[in-house]
Amino acid sequence: MNGDKIEVDGIKGLVAAAKDIDKDGVWTSKYGKMSLLGKEMPVPKNLQRGKEAEEVLAILPASLYVTKCTCCKADFDKDAIVLVMESARLIPAQCCNMMLWSSEIDG
Ligand SMILES: [Zn+2]
Repeated sequence: MNGDKIEVDGIKGLVAAAKDIDKDGVWTSKYGKMSLLGKEMPVPKNLQRGKEAEEVLAILPASLYVTKCTCCKADFDKDAIVLVMESARLIPAQCCNMMLWSSEIDG
């Protein structure tokens, strides 16, 4: 385990699962723990606005945006978070282990 190495490489080439991202936005992978704040996240093609990856600008309570999971319709835990990027948002939904992407522009 070397938590330092991934700081340089970001998460390129590695896919984070929702269940591996905690309420502080810390992602636990096979390389160790890494806060996603300030890191570049690869954005799904259909949400890209001219950039393949966007920086995580803030980690906020998911309840500011939604109260229910858009995938399984469960109520979000109060600890649920949203990663706010330049134009994309990502909620790592613990209820169904889904990465819920949305776009600020789409609402
Ligand atoms: Zn769900």
